Amino acid sequence: MSSLREVLNQNVRQGELYEPIERNRIRCYACGHCCPIPEGQAGVCKVRFNQAGKLYVPWGYVGGVQCDPIEKKPFFHAYPGALAYSFGMLGCDLHCSYCQNWVTSQALRDPNAVSRPLEASPELLVRDALRQGAKVLVSTYNEPLITAEWAVAIFKEAKQAGLKTAFVSNGNGTPQVLEYLRPWIDFYKVDLKSFDERHYRQLGGRIGPILDTIRRLHSLGVWLEIVTLLIPGFNNSDEELRQLTGFLASVSPDIPWHVTAFHKDYKMDDPENTTPEDLLRGAEIGKNAGLRYIYAGNLPGSVGERENTHCPGCGGVVIERYGYFIENYRLTPQGACPDCGTSIPGRWAEKFGGQIADRPFLPRDLVTIARNH
Ligand code: SF4
Repeated sequence: MSSLREVLNQNVRQGELYEPIERNRIRCYACGHCCPIPEGQAGVCKVRFNQAGKLYVPWGYVGGVQCDPIEKKPFFHAYPGALAYSFGMLGCDLHCSYCQNWVTSQALRDPNAVSRPLEASPELLVRDALRQGAKVLVSTYNEPLITAEWAVAIFKEAKQAGLKTAFVSNGNGTPQVLEYLRPWIDFYKVDLKSFDERHYRQLGGRIGPILDTIRRLHSLGVWLEIVTLLIPGFNNSDEELRQLTGFLASVSPDIPWHVTAFHKDYKMDDPENTTPEDLLRGAEIGKNAGLRYIYAGNLPGSVGERENTHCPGCGGVVIERYGYFIENYRLTPQGACPDCGTSIPGRWAEKFGGQIADRPFLPRDLVTIARNH
């Protein structure tokens, strides 16, 4: 049986996000590492490599697919209630010890992360998304920037079929990859993990490219939401949260910020799980920094009003939630508060179509998908 590395090396195609540099090396621009890759070597992500002076990138497979409410990504201001069809590949450019998707993200670094690739095509994935009733196609699970060419191929097909498209990403981008994605992407979630350069170094990255990605996505007009997983003792000090939320508010106070709870995972089992009180403290700091839409996530029923969207004009609740579930949707077809007419930033459907969230959307393999067509 072929090794995972051998299988992945067969599922490649020449990439687009690179240029040749001296001594037969190439520079990859898919993520903020901008690796100079020598002949015969791979970049930090281990999935993009230089062969005879050309960059080869992952193609033609997925690590898994799943359909969920879009609120689970989490996007709260992008077609609430829509079903999001998620796909991912393998590998990542960071190595966070608390990763909740480590089976796919660390497949090439960690022998315990076993995840076999499944053959796929853009047409097959889009057909399956439509069949399940999805409105949005999301590249997630591993870091989508490092497989940007494959995502764009799928997104082109998705756009033709009338679907919206999104990335759930660590935000370690470059100007080149964001320009490349811009015509094909509607929503982007950045996981802003910390506001401390030393912490980002621990995770294998730098904070600069991530902050630059946030600024650029906002100025490019891509709908942007931010999530921060609050980890006790790692990134939850008042000072760090003040700086982080102050930065977001300086880009735009209208960017939704999701502050979510850590639970012990992967190699990080030292810190205690995040408490609702900690989430609410973070939310209060964000509010004082000027952010208008702050959501305390993944502890349904424990964070009071912080699951709901409030109108910044009159303070009324315009979308009421319990966890991922929308309990009441009151926005007008133009996305405004029905009481005072204040416009709420986001991408809204003309009509809220209800939410399909009570049937299980389990991860499925592509063999099953192919059999259904
Ligand atoms: S995607 Fe990032 S880590 Fe991978 S080769 Fe390109 S620059 Fe390096």
